[in-house]
Amino acid sequence: MSRLDVDIKYLKGVGPKRADMLNKQLGIRTFHDLLYHFPTRYVDRSVIHTIAEIRGMSEIPTIQIKGHFVTLNIQGEGARRRLTGLFSDGTGTIEVVWFKRVKALRDSFLTNTTYILFGKPTFFNGRLNLVHPEVDKESATGAIKGLHGIYPLTETLRNNGFSSKTLFTLAQGVLAAVPNIGETLSSDIIARNRLMSLNDALNAIHNPQSPEELQRARFRLKFEELFYLQLKIQQYTRRRNSTTKGFVFPRIGHFFNTFYSQCLPFQLTGAQKRVIREIRADMATGKQMNRLLQGDVGSGKTLVALLCALIAIDNGYQACIMAPTEILASQHFGTFSELLAPIGVNVKLLTGSTRKKERDAIHEQLTNGALHILIGTHAVIEDNVEFKNLGFVVIDEQHRFGVAQRAKMWKKSEIPPHVLVMTATPIPRTLAMTVYGDLSVSVIDELPPGRKPVVTQLRYDTNRYEVDCAIGRELRQGRQVYIVFPLITENEKLDLQSLEEGYERVCNTFPHYRVAYVHGRMKPAVKDYQMGLFVNHEADILVATTVIEVGVNVPNATTMVIENAERFGLSQLHQLRGRVGRGGDQSYCILMTKHQIARDTRRRLELMTSTTDGFEIAEADLQMRGPGDIEGTMQSGVALNLHIASLASDGQITQIARENVDAVLDNDPDLSRPEHHILVSQLSELFDQSVDWSNIS
Ligand code: ADP
Ligand code: MG
Repeated sequence: MSRLDVDIKYLKGVGPKRADMLNKQLGIRTFHDLLYHFPTRYVDRSVIHTIAEIRGMSEIPTIQIKGHFVTLNIQGEGARRRLTGLFSDGTGTIEVVWFKRVKALRDSFLTNTTYILFGKPTFFNGRLNLVHPEVDKESATGAIKGLHGIYPLTETLRNNGFSSKTLFTLAQGVLAAVPNIGETLSSDIIARNRLMSLNDALNAIHNPQSPEELQRARFRLKFEELFYLQLKIQQYTRRRNSTTKGFVFPRIGHFFNTFYSQCLPFQLTGAQKRVIREIRADMATGKQMNRLLQGDVGSGKTLVALLCALIAIDNGYQACIMAPTEILASQHFGTFSELLAPIGVNVKLLTGSTRKKERDAIHEQLTNGALHILIGTHAVIEDNVEFKNLGFVVIDEQHRFGVAQRAKMWKKSEIPPHVLVMTATPIPRTLAMTVYGDLSVSVIDELPPGRKPVVTQLRYDTNRYEVDCAIGRELRQGRQVYIVFPLITENEKLDLQSLEEGYERVCNTFPHYRVAYVHGRMKPAVKDYQMGLFVNHEADILVATTVIEVGVNVPNATTMVIENAERFGLSQLHQLRGRVGRGGDQSYCILMTKHQIARDTRRRLELMTSTTDGFEIAEADLQMRGPGDIEGTMQSGVALNLHIASLASDGQITQIARENVDAVLDNDPDLSRPEHHILVSQLSELFDQSVDWSNIS
């Protein structure tokens, strides 16, 4: 319990009603929460702009102007009721509008007084317009000098009279009520990095006296967040590495050698060979392997998994391959059983729809050791699935699995099996370092030979005919086509409608071709049936939502049309595009959008047309969107509750923080030295201790 753990309703100027609103809108409950609701940007309020000057600007930032109201009138009725003022500063006029608290505001302004307005003007119907600005009397001191923080707010809060200034005032209230906020980092770390004290940093972040001071405050606060996050992860990683033993697989034997020399369907790429060597070396050390295999879509991760499974079998152990969907699991099963049949490896498939009889047989073969490789969906981690000696686990497209599920896999064996996590979603380095700690990473950075990069084009609704012709050309050559629609839960009904209309349109446009149809809300059996039609070339066109995103392999599909492409994230587009270009033929990805799209959106889509490099796209995605979505899918088990640091743009501070973490843990692994007590208590303050994630990669 710290002095900041006080309910904000007790803060002067808040009270129960506003407290409730802050709570609901921004999740602010305590003094601490309020203090850590930082401005996201700052405006230099010592600068006053003239109206003449802003008229000439093509893009107008948040600015302040000084002048007086020429007129102030309440206009309109009901919902359209508004207060309109004409404001002049001698160089020109600007219209100022309020839609809320109309009467109260009307009564508070005087026409013959000088005011300072602060806000972001826009052009509306050719007129310069300022909606809901902050208003100060010129005489007000302190409020309009220097750097001012702009606090993130919601529309509801704005409509209820909250402004950036309100939050500033409330934060100042907390700082006054709790002077000398206690330090949260140890003195050795503060000294080594010449950090500002927490108290100074919190004061400066809300009310900076200079840009330099702001800079130092931001550094201190970002450093702290990244430091504790990594301290937490490194503690786990180190503990795990020191306590867990792993199986030793010293041998390369009959199965691997026979397959490698006689059954390989094609020559391995250099990258595939290198990765297999890395994995082999890991599995021979006696340390439990936790390896992330990143390889762009189509880079041939499956074959790597297969060869490594053979190493486990050669050493007398079983292997298990887990995939996120039935389609994918059965596709893997098809590949494995076909390739491994000649050398007598026993492979079975276990999914939710496996019949009881077959399931019983699998259970028996698993426990008596007759089954070498089990492939399946979530079904394989159910409690009643027991192995004789599970030595190697592959988790494909890992971002679809939660940490808890992976943890269950570990429990299937006394000594945890070696784990290979495969993903086609490239994870930028800073993120990997932070989220995965010391997970080893292998990269397949080379596509099998003969692949032609997918040609990607941006097309508009007005080009529809041309696009249909292109599709027709591919179909006539016996190729298959994906047509993908977005499905976003916010408005599922509408999305489903557009999907259904799209499906009808496709059927009408290509009446001589067979069209399959899948979306996420279908029953799995129906979905699998429809997907099966496309996979087996009993359908030429697949109209789908993003259910096809992960892993399906139909080399004969050469064209992918993505409708409303602007509604997809870059990484998602990249994943989708990876479904084509899997055979030797030239493939195409057509991104369809309305003609009018925002500049940012166009930039995003143009990046897709200019590169097929998954890492470049992931980095750009991280820069443009922030890491939020990626973190969400990482499910690292450690909540990344970052207020100010950004994994996307604070790579350098991440690195510095990591070096500090290593220095601390190298010298004091248990954090038992007196000067580090503060770190221990901060860790327990910051992270929920009830969940033990220590067993997880
Ligand atoms: P991903 O890495 O996306 O899982 P897959 O393992 O599904 O990729 O491989 C994609 C396609 O490339 C498959 O059809 C596979 O048979 C083929 N492939 C894999 N490795 C090679 C290789 N070395 N040479 C040629 N084709 C390969
Ligand atoms: Mg795959």
